[in-house]
Amino acid sequence: MAEAYDPGNIFAKILRGEIPSHRIYEDDAVVAFIDVMPQGVGHTLVVPKAPSRNILDADPATFAPLFAVVQKVAVAVKKAFNADGVTILQFNEPASGQTVYHLHVHVIPRFEGVPLKPHSGQMEKPEVLAENAGKIRAALGN
Ligand code: 5GP
Repeated sequence: MAEAYDPGNIFAKILRGEIPSHRIYEDDAVVAFIDVMPQGVGHTLVVPKAPSRNILDADPATFAPLFAVVQKVAVAVKKAFNADGVTILQFNEPASGQTVYHLHVHVIPRFEGVPLKPHSGQMEKPEVLAENAGKIRAALGN
């Protein structure tokens, strides 16, 4: 049986505004913010407000608004960083590499010949995250 959703997880705290994040997008159903341990420049997380642990227990109604924002953010990061492509990643349960148990989708700009950095690797400097968030907001027209 799937484990229960824990409202104390770090993304639930970010959604409630209890801990800070570099938000680049928000609507009624979805928030997007910069990953603090980016696997590449502009690595963004797209997070539905509806609580679920991951894709396995999510209400299917979550996916249409979530992936509409994944697409918006993918287009914006590609433009913001003049990327050659965009990788979309999503992990479910520890065996897959999931480390935060609130459903989220990774959107990572990609450049020819540049490998991804490790997942949940090194913390980026706050000023770099802030600058990259500004570039993505500008590309979104926010
Ligand atoms: P997962 O492994 O669950 O798919 O990914 C969780 C992601 O959240 C990782 O890429 C990790 O770098 C990122 N992350 C972990 N803690 C925080 C945090 O406090 N703030 C932000 N913005 N990202 C976080």
